[in-house]
Amino acid sequence: MEIHPKITPIYQTSVFKFEDLNELELYFSEPGSRYLYSRNGNPNADELAEAINRLEGGAGAMVTGSGMAAIFAAVLAYCQAGDHVLCAADIYGGSSTLLNTELNRMGISVTYVPFEQFYELQSFVQPTTRLMLVETMSNPLLRVADLGRLAEECHFHGLKLVVDNTFATPVLTQPLALGADIVLHSVTKYLSGHSDVTAGAVVAADAGVAARLKQIGVIYGLTLSPMESWLAVRGLKTLRLRVREHSRNALAIANFLADHPAVRDIYYPGLVQHPQHELAVAQGAGLFGGMMSILLADDPEVVNAFMRRTKYFPFAPSLAGVDSSLSYPLGTSHRALTPEQQQQLGITTGLVRLSIGIEPLEELMADLAQALD
Ligand SMILES: *Cc1c(COP(=O)(O)O)cnc(C)c1O
Repeated sequence: MEIHPKITPIYQTSVFKFEDLNELELYFSEPGSRYLYSRNGNPNADELAEAINRLEGGAGAMVTGSGMAAIFAAVLAYCQAGDHVLCAADIYGGSSTLLNTELNRMGISVTYVPFEQFYELQSFVQPTTRLMLVETMSNPLLRVADLGRLAEECHFHGLKLVVDNTFATPVLTQPLALGADIVLHSVTKYLSGHSDVTAGAVVAADAGVAARLKQIGVIYGLTLSPMESWLAVRGLKTLRLRVREHSRNALAIANFLADHPAVRDIYYPGLVQHPQHELAVAQGAGLFGGMMSILLADDPEVVNAFMRRTKYFPFAPSLAGVDSSLSYPLGTSHRALTPEQQQQLGITTGLVRLSIGIEPLEELMADLAQALD
């Protein structure tokens, strides 16, 4: 009996069999024709990598056990001991911790570039600088980087541009088409979308770099399991639908919150008062995603009262699930920064980050209204 499943089954196996020595030789002489060992390659991981590669328009991709592993792989693809990297000052807390501690220990140093100086890198560049790491939309203040302009500036100085596209997703922005060299994701977030997977992905514009990424994944053991890959592939099929709905809900909620007296400030690129609104329109395909941050009174009791009263926004330090949630940058993602850095970035006691889900809009609005009033 031949079985023809419509959907790729889960190849929950760590290893694959060979008939004889001839078949083993075919594995090496015809790359991609057979599988050997799941850390080196697995049909489910390959399916996910190909799907993300297609969405981002890359020359090849690798999927990893987490978004952090993806960032690590991207840096290692271009850097070795003695090298230097630039990183946006507004960045995911885990990224700066990785650069400041482990990569620093390996001899790779970092300089942070304030958002205002992205397009004048001259004073930050050293002879050993290899790349710049930025987020399309920054965490948690949703500042939007002009990736086309940034790619030009990086390439002018001989640097590679590595873009963390987790918040924007390829539905809004495809960084490689704008000149980035590597785009990466915490697949844990929108690409999977259901808060049930931890995974990452790195996509390269250049086939040689993609091959190097795969080599790094296999040697360091960063690759993704079959089950996680399968779940992420399933989530990815509704990415377009979900991101449209996240964006639609978020824009309506942002407009509502912008006028609420308890909200002292709001950060959402879809609002006309957002400093990079026009760029976000041009670079985001008319959608602005589901992430926003609001500034309540800088009083922990005000924040606590809001957290306790919301029913649709559980305090859960992640984002981008179909179910809404909220997070607290000062106490979670940006906890490791010094108080001065936190102050500089505007990450204060009253700052709450909302991840707007795809629940019925009226229910989300009513819940936020009762929690804030
Ligand atoms: C969550 C996140 C990461 C890290 O991803 P993990 O899957 O948690 O390892 C990196 N960048 C951004 C923007 C994130 O939100």
